[in-house]
Amino acid sequence: MPFLKQNQVLAGINTAPNAMKSIVIIGAGPAGLMAAEVIAQAGHAVRVYDAMPSVGRKFLLAGIGGLNITHAEEFDKFVSRYASHSSNGQTRVANWLRDFTPSQLREWVRALGIETFVGTSQRVFPAEMKAAPLLRAWLARLRSQGVQFFLGIGGRGLRMMAR
Ligand SMILES: Cc1cc2nc3c(=O)[nH]c(=O)nc-3n(C[C@H](O)[C@H](O)[C@H](O)COP(=O)(O)OP(=O)(O)OC[C@H]3O[C@@H](n4cnc5c(N)ncnc54)[C@H](O)[C@@H]3O)c2cc1C
Repeated sequence: MPFLKQNQVLAGINTAPNAMKSIVIIGAGPAGLMAAEVIAQAGHAVRVYDAMPSVGRKFLLAGIGGLNITHAEEFDKFVSRYASHSSNGQTRVANWLRDFTPSQLREWVRALGIETFVGTSQRVFPAEMKAAPLLRAWLARLRSQGVQFFLGIGGRGLRMMAR
């Protein structure tokens, strides 16, 4: 799962009161959906485009073998699984993960109405192990926040729109 730091997502967007912007996000995978959520919650109008005819296709694939959403191990060990080749990279990743910890991620999933459990390997899974219920609930919440989706529009279509 991608983790997004709220102030990084909002960097460059004028968040002054009454400064609602219209934001386009290209890609309706988990990263695009999380960006859409953060930006919509900040009060901006969000349109999400994806080249594929439906959203989160790779995410749904991820659910086939059991969707591992995070890990319940001790934080330093968890961080060491990322960017293990460079201490600089690891510090950066640690800062991102402190901003949205594994426990916060579990709470975020819970707020979508989906319980999680810790497996024997300390990996964390949604109760049904699948991605589809989570994605359905997430999309419903995004739509209720006003996020609009435009599917089947990829490179050429997007270039034409940009003209
Ligand atoms: C078999 C499998 C199992 C996995 N298991 C897990 C797991 O258990 N736990 C876990 O955390 N992760 C797992 N993953 C990885 C997880 O699916 C990815 O990390 C996640 O989907 C990445 O999200 P993303 O939004 O960055 O990219 P993507 O999910 O790849 O989303 C990018 C989106 O952008 C769209 N797009 C790209 N270019 C354009 C363009 N030019 N115009 C319009 N749209 C465009 C694509 O169509 C796509 O929908 C698994 C992956 C696979 C394949």
